[in-house]
This record gives sequence, C-alpha cells and structure tokens, in this order.
Amino acid sequence: MISVEEALSIILSQVKVMGTERVDITSSLGRVIAEDIYVRRDNPPWDNSAMDGYAVRFEDIKGATKENPAVLRVIEDLPAGYVAKKTVGKGEVVRIMTGAPVPKGADTVVMVEDTEKEGERARIFRETPLGENIRKAGEDIKAGELVVPKGTMIRPAEVGIIATCGRAFVSVYQRPRVAVISTGDELVDVDEELSEGKILSSNSYTLSSMAAECGADAFQLGIAKDTREALKEKLQQALHADVIITSGGVSEGDFDFVKDVLKELGSEMKFWKVAMKPGKPLAFGTIGGKPAFGLPGNPVSCMVCFEQFARPSLLKMMGHGRIYRPVVQAVLKEEIKKKPGRKHFIRSFARLEEGRYTVTTTGDQGSGILKSMVAANGLLIFPEELSTLKAGDVVKVQLIDRSFDFAEGPGY
Ligand code: AMP
Ligand code: MG
Repeated sequence: MISVEEALSIILSQVKVMGTERVDITSSLGRVIAEDIYVRRDNPPWDNSAMDGYAVRFEDIKGATKENPAVLRVIEDLPAGYVAKKTVGKGEVVRIMTGAPVPKGADTVVMVEDTEKEGERARIFRETPLGENIRKAGEDIKAGELVVPKGTMIRPAEVGIIATCGRAFVSVYQRPRVAVISTGDELVDVDEELSEGKILSSNSYTLSSMAAECGADAFQLGIAKDTREALKEKLQQALHADVIITSGGVSEGDFDFVKDVLKELGSEMKFWKVAMKPGKPLAFGTIGGKPAFGLPGNPVSCMVCFEQFARPSLLKMMGHGRIYRPVVQAVLKEEIKKKPGRKHFIRSFARLEEGRYTVTTTGDQGSGILKSMVAANGLLIFPEELSTLKAGDVVKVQLIDRSFDFAEGPGY
C-alpha cells in the first residue's frame, strides 16, 4: 500500500497546466488569469470632485461662517463628464458635480449643503479645509502598477479593475474537459428501468458535478458494461477529453477489468492500494498524455478519492496556485475508533462555536452510505497510525463545503 501523500505527489507531478485562451471579461469570472495586468494610466485620471458643490479657491472661503458667509461669483456649471472652460479666479467659483474634473485655479470643493445659491452668487457658510472633497489623480491606481498578477483567480473586483484598465478580453487558463464513465453490469441510468439486481448509477452524477464545481467542463459518457470490449469502447470515446475519470472495476473482483484496459490503452498506468478509507483501490496514469483516474465504485469512496486526487489535479490544470481545500483545527465532540494502518476521511460536520471549530461525525461511515456525505461539510482526517480519537481532542478537518455557513440574516 502507498500513502495518500505519495499517491497525490505522483499524480500531481504528472498533471500539467492547460494552455491559455482569450475570453471576454464578462465570462472570465472564476477563471485563472494567465497574464499580468498593468495599468496604462492613473485612476482616477485627474483630480475630480467627490461631492456636488462648488469648486473654490481656499483663500476665498477662509473664515467663512453662517453669519459671515463668503459671497462668490458662479462663472460656470460643470456636470460630470465635462471639462471646465474657465479658470477659477479670485472671488470666483464653479458649480461642480461629483466626478467632474476639478477646474484650473480651484483647490477645494465645498459641498452643496454648506452653500446657498442666489442668482449669479454662491454663499459659502463654512471654511472647508484646503483640498477637501477632491479625489486625487492616481489615488486608486497609478500608471504602470501591476493590479492583477498572473495566476490570480478572477472575482468580480478583478473583473472591475481589468475593465478599468480598458481591457475587454483577457488571457485565462483553459478549463479541462472531463469525461466521466461509470462501470458495472449492475448499473442503470436515472431514466432506465430498475429491474431486479440493478442499482442506479449515482457516481456518474456526483463525479460530473464535482468536476463542474472545480470549474472544469464535465460530461458523462454513460455506463460501460463489465467487459473489456465495452470498457475499451467507452475509454476510446473519452480520448476527446482532457481528463478521464472512471468509477468502479478497479478492485480484485472477477469482472474488474478497468485496470487491464487502462493499462492496454495507457502509458505508465499505476495501480495502487492507497492506505486510505474510504477508497483504497485507485488507478492513475496517462492515456495519450491525458490524466486518467480509475476511482473505486462505492459512492463515497469515489467521492473521497475525487476530493483527494482529482480535485487538486483539475485545479492545477486550470492554473490555480492554491489547489487544496481549507483545513481547520477543530475540537472533536465524540470518541471515534478505527484500526491503525490507513488514513480515514470521516464524514463530519464542523461548526464555529465562540470562535473555535467543533466537529461531530455525520453517521454511518460505510463506503456506500451517501446520506452521511450529504450531511457533511467536512472530512475529518483520522491519521493512519492512530486507533482512537477522544472527545476533546483537536483534529484536522478538510472543509469540503461552505454552503452551511450561509447566514439567515445580513449580520448587522
Ligand atoms: P466496484 O468498485 O466496481 O466493485 O463497485 C463497488 C460497489 O460500488 C458496487 O457493488 C456498487 O454497489 C457500487 N457502485 C459502483 N458503481 C456505481 C455507480 N456508478 N453508482 C452507484 N454505485 C456504484
Ligand atoms: Mg464493478
């Protein structure tokens, strides 16, 4: 048996980052940028008003009060989007709207609430400090600044700053196409009749949605029967994809042909018994240069193996620098036991209680029990050498889902 760490490190060493493509910034969300974005000009490009009011010379409003206002001549009205034609001279002001460039001669903006207009005159009731209400050129970003480095995952704020740089298209890493194949004579699809001895193929759906959740472009190739020919045919169809994922048929049963067929088609195919639970049998290699994962058939084994091996691989392919789930320290609320020898991934629920995580298991840990996976937001890592974890022990939990953390209220 090899360790989870060894298997993962071999797999990641064989997985290569995808090529790049140019996409419209509106569809770049969640992608990883494959170029450095530099700003070509300052933002804002010029000093502009942060308020509706009057652009003034500080000198002219010094000492102004409600009782003793400064009375100044309005020489121009300036909406946002236009440039003042006149220069503000002694005793003069320009009526200015938020976002408009500050006119020449002015050094301060008085907000409209501190003024009153009377025909051609503006009365200023307050000595607004010098430079107040002016957003300086380049206060957001300076020309030449690196604003989005290569390798960043694009979120709405990045989309905004890329747009501010005047870019409509950006270069991002490609999303791998992932072909998902379920194997087993016992399997039927959701729209087929469930006759005696048959079960529904849920793995096709969990695996394709896990790949989609990573941001990959997943598609199902359906169910392959447990014969070499059927498997070969499906795997050959899968060669159109960038990544191949199968479930089932990797154990030691009489009809477990996935290993043999992958070996026939692939170069350097490896079959491991990985020291983990759920999981254990795992095949990995490349077929025509494409990573192929032969995951075990039991519904939770296949999900946990996807989590540990396929997910980081797909994230690496898509250019992500951080490819692992967050792992938190949590206080275990119950005692759990196992045989030493394998690393167990225990379906659990971690919650924040007074600033600390606590964790409880979510029920039956059988490798076919999907219900305890449904109830889980984390996988508690039960180290291989240990056999008991006690209530109160601090353990590591991989957080596999944050949707339970969504709040019922806005929190203010
Ligand atoms: P295998 O790894 O092929 O021996 O499969 C182990 C067990 O996993 C089978 O007995 C089935 O109960 C279950 N199984 C295999 N493939 C699927 C699938 N696509 N969906 C749901 N369960 C499956
Ligand atoms: Mg099978």
